[in-house]
Amino acid sequence: MKAANNNNKCPICKGVSTEKYHPFCSNRCSEIDLGRWFKGNYIIPGEKTSQGQNENEDSEG
Ligand SMILES: [Zn+2]
Repeated sequence: MKAANNNNKCPICKGVSTEKYHPFCSNRCSEIDLGRWFKGNYIIPGEKTSQGQNENEDSEG
């Protein structure tokens, strides 16, 4: 008996991941994930952008 490896899901599109691009489903999703990492490293600490990141807003009332 062999257990199927169909339990993996692509973290990007939630599709079925493939062995070749594990844990992603395709090279495209793999690159997307990679891009996210690069973006995180690209951001310069201290510099504030007027758009993009969702900062924790604390305004009530
Ligand atoms: Zn995917």
